[in-house]
Amino acid sequence: MSAASASTQTPTPAPAPAPGNAPWLQTLKPDADRLIKAATGDDFAWQRLAEMTDTHGARFSGSENLQRAIAWSVAAMKADGLENVRAERVMVQRWVRGHESAEIIDPPRHTVDVLGLGGTVATPPGGVEADVLPVTSFDDLRTKQADARGKIVLFDVPYTNYSETVTYRTGGARTAAQYGAVAVLVRSVGPLGLRTVHTGSVTYAPGQTSIPAAAVSGEDASRIVRLTNRGRRVRMRLVTSGRYEPDAESANVVGEIVGRERPDEIVLVGGHLDSWDVGTGASDDGAGCIVTWEAARLMKRLGIRPRRTVRVVLFTNEENGLRGANAYAERYASAAANHVFALESDSGVFAPATFGFSGSAAARGVIHQIGGLLAPLSMAEITAGGGGADIGPIAQAGNVPTMAYLGDAARYFVIHHTAADTVERIAPEELSKAAAAIAVVTYAVAEMPERLPR
Ligand SMILES: [Zn+2]
Repeated sequence: MSAASASTQTPTPAPAPAPGNAPWLQTLKPDADRLIKAATGDDFAWQRLAEMTDTHGARFSGSENLQRAIAWSVAAMKADGLENVRAERVMVQRWVRGHESAEIIDPPRHTVDVLGLGGTVATPPGGVEADVLPVTSFDDLRTKQADARGKIVLFDVPYTNYSETVTYRTGGARTAAQYGAVAVLVRSVGPLGLRTVHTGSVTYAPGQTSIPAAAVSGEDASRIVRLTNRGRRVRMRLVTSGRYEPDAESANVVGEIVGRERPDEIVLVGGHLDSWDVGTGASDDGAGCIVTWEAARLMKRLGIRPRRTVRVVLFTNEENGLRGANAYAERYASAAANHVFALESDSGVFAPATFGFSGSAAARGVIHQIGGLLAPLSMAEITAGGGGADIGPIAQAGNVPTMAYLGDAARYFVIHHTAADTVERIAPEELSKAAAAIAVVTYAVAEMPERLPR
């Protein structure tokens, strides 16, 4: 049914069709099925992710690795036949980790694996040496504030979920600094691993002394706590060497399939190409780049050119600055309202995965219908709430409905921001399934007769 004929009819309430059975969706089903078949028929996505992470490794903002990965992505998108492939220049901050170490010097003498939090200041060259004050929360620190002066405060906060526990990683240093602590250690933010240390950003308060901040493994945090609970004083030495260098050149990588009828209406999909400087950024977020890029590559390969433009963006600098996301929103500010939909994959692809969606009730109804096209993939029902850091600024500017591909958090946060974030952790079938699901949703929103309601 065309938009014109629809508008001349008196709307008659009809029973809502079951998901996937609406007439307009039936016309999309053959190509949706082809996309699923093509995505799940081989391990192309995994092979591409392995090539990216093997060749370029960690892709930290400001690093040569990231610059090479950007050039590689541009070349590979062109080879895929994507259109308007370009690298859009963004200046990013460049933080350099340098040497780090820690040891318990009393009771003597044990090295402790540490990973400085991203952005941490340096200790003096010989490190800081102090007694450790373990606390279990910000409230606990407040009650013990008289003891905090001159100490290394250890936030031994058990992991509940990422958004809750991460507040200690981002805000622990500035809170402890208020009470005169000389450094902070944070129990790594993640479920218990194999004595795994997780980095991630720390933020300082302007006008306040910035103190060194590092993560320790859950096992080492527990051990320090057990020692102090027995009445032992625990004295540690911590060395960090973080420093900022001048801003460096980087870029968002963009590739498109130009819409055949409404080229100005943009369906935006993407992930972030940068990673932390440990591991190879396979799940965070090489996978998100590859599976969203796959949506466009598969359409191209199958000769599908939807009504609207599909735009893939591999954002830069998500981890420690969000400069890529902000630059995109600035560059396309006047076209923000032409973005009809934005989808981000930055939660890994681990099963069981699902989608989360944020938008109006009307948009949710349509997305629920589109969900019916995913039946061959037997995914869980689309949940409420889904967006992402990189699509956030443009979505806010244009009031754009947003969606996230949500891999299983319980598995994702075991390796998040660690040296263990490598392609071995990802099953080819899980990556292919994510690519299939994202391709179908992207295609359906780009092809549907009416624009997705706001
Ligand atoms: Zn990420």
